[in-house]
Amino acid sequence: MPLFEYKCSECDHKFEELVANSESKVTCPKCASEKVSKLLSVFAASGTSSSGSSLPSAQSSCGSGFS
Ligand SMILES: [Zn+2]
Repeated sequence: MPLFEYKCSECDHKFEELVANSESKVTCPKCASEKVSKLLSVFAASGTSSSGSSLPSAQSSCGSGFS
């Protein structure tokens, strides 16, 4: 399941959310605003083993520096 990173444009809070489908509404856990913008999609950043799902062309450059 893809893990997406969002940023709230109301309170500037960054959070991560597991979304089952891209239509699901994401709200900020802090201020409950729906004005969130999706950042990069991260695939469960820690851990190397992905069980089963092989995406053939997932070689997008994830080159935005986040530390
Ligand atoms: Zn917020």
